[in-house]
Amino acid sequence: MPVESLTTMFEQARRGKYALGYFEAWDPYSLEAVLAAAEAEDAPVILGFGGMMVDRAWLNAGGVALLGALGRSVAARAKVPVALLLNEVPTIEHAYMGMDAGFNAVMVDTSSWETQRAIPAIAALTRDAHKRGVAVEAELGRLPDAVGDGIDDSSAALTDPAQAAYFVEQTGVDCLAVSIGNVHLLTNGYAPVDMAHLEAIHQRVAVPLVIHGGTSFPPDQVPRAIAAGGLKFNVGTILKAVFLQGVRETVQQLPAASGSRPNVHDLMGSHKETDLMRVGQARMIAKVRELIRLYRG
Ligand code: 13P
Repeated sequence: MPVESLTTMFEQARRGKYALGYFEAWDPYSLEAVLAAAEAEDAPVILGFGGMMVDRAWLNAGGVALLGALGRSVAARAKVPVALLLNEVPTIEHAYMGMDAGFNAVMVDTSSWETQRAIPAIAALTRDAHKRGVAVEAELGRLPDAVGDGIDDSSAALTDPAQAAYFVEQTGVDCLAVSIGNVHLLTNGYAPVDMAHLEAIHQRVAVPLVIHGGTSFPPDQVPRAIAAGGLKFNVGTILKAVFLQGVRETVQQLPAASGSRPNVHDLMGSHKETDLMRVGQARMIAKVRELIRLYRG
C-alpha cells in the first residue's frame, strides 16, 4: 500500500476518537517491529526516524537518504495505513533532504529558535512541502528535559494558546507539537501534565495537537488528551529501553547457551529466531501493541 497522507490519517483519527502513535525507529529491526505491531492490532501507524539523537555528520553523509529508502521499502508492504515521518531534524535543509528521500511528513526541531525566526522558515517549508504532498509538523513552546531520574524545567516554556493560534495561521502547518508539562526522555514515572492547558490550546488551534514525550505521558490522561485534540503521541525512549533489555538478557545467556564459541552468524543479522536482535524486536512489538491499544482512547 502506498504511504497515506498524514492529514487523512488525522481526519480519520478525529472522527474515530483515537490518537495515532508515532513510534520512533532507528534501524530495520525496530522499524519492522513497529509495522508488525500495527498490523497485529490492525491499526494505522506513523512510521519513521528521528534526527535528534543521530550524529549530524552521518545524517548529512547519506543518512537521511538511507533512512528514507528503508522507510519507503517497509511502508510499501504495509497492510495498514502508514505515514512516514522524519522527526525532529536539526535544520530546514534536513527536512528537504527528507522529502527528497521519500518521507511524506517532516518536522524540524525549532524549539530553541525565536518564534520570529521560526515562522517565516516553517511557512516557506510548509508551502514547498504541500506542493509535494508532504505534511509538516512544528512545535511551539519548549519541553522540560529529563536529567537523570528527575526533570529540569529551567528552560521549559508552556505553549501559549494565543501564540499557538497565530503560529499555525502564519505557517500553515498540519499539526502542532505542544508543551503542556510533558517531558522528553523521562523513564522514571510520569510527567506532571496540565490537561486544562491542553484544552485551552485546543480551543484556539484547529489543527491536531501532538504530544511528544510519550514514554512518560500518564496513561490515565490519554482519553482526555484525545478529546482535547491530542491526536498524535510520539514515543521513543521506552522502545529503545525494552529492546535493549531483550538484547542484554540474550547476550548475558550466551556463554551458557553456546559454549565459548557462539555461532556469530546465527546471532548477528540472520533474522532467524536465533538472531539476538529478534529478542529485542519481540519486546518492542509487545510494547508498541500495548501503546496502540492505549491510544484507542
Ligand atoms: P520519549 O522518548 O520521551 O518517548 O519522547 C519521544 C519523542 O517525543 C520523539 O519526538
